[in-house]
Amino acid sequence: EQRLAVVKEHIGEFPDFPKKGIVFKDIFTALTNGHVCTCLKELIVNHVRSKCPDVEVIVGLESRGFLFSFTIAAELGIGCVPVRKKGKLPGECVSVEYVLEYGKDVFEMQKDSIKKGQKVLIIDDLLATGGSMEAAVRLVRKLGGEVQEALVLIELPFLNGRKRLDYRMGLAFVFQD
Ligand code: IMP
Repeated sequence: EQRLAVVKEHIGEFPDFPKKGIVFKDIFTALTNGHVCTCLKELIVNHVRSKCPDVEVIVGLESRGFLFSFTIAAELGIGCVPVRKKGKLPGECVSVEYVLEYGKDVFEMQKDSIKKGQKVLIIDDLLATGGSMEAAVRLVRKLGGEVQEALVLIELPFLNGRKRLDYRMGLAFVFQD
């Protein structure tokens, strides 16, 4: 598919960021190009329309996930909802703790942001160890949402992130590296 190739070749790679030995994949580098923006929007919107036509809410992970959750939501005429780090969202929230390489962190969602039984697609830019996506799935389920799919633009398969996600939902990716 032509559009995949166009986006892929524009993703930035930054060796030794944020620390030595890690090659950071930067989707923002690709978004500086207008044609790439259009290709990427079409890829993700077409994917959701064909694979998850009944989805009712798009959940985006802080912070690059917000860009893509809004884009899909606006195209489909449905809502989008943020998952944020603890302390960033106003109002009553639900939380889950998750383990990072060194230490722990907490993700939150606003309590009334998803209704019981709503069909949800979660999107983020990149799946590494899968810890963030797994935490987001737990949060959505805590609110009574039904996770239909976890969608990431880039998967780093050598980190085995998909093993942390369960079989009940789909994991889709736009690229694999
Ligand atoms: P995980 O929880 O280990 O799967 O890490 C995924 C989260 O960390 C996502 O929210 C990503 O945005 C971020 N992340 C990890 N590695 C990279 C990278 O190489 N580029 C961009 N974001 C990354």
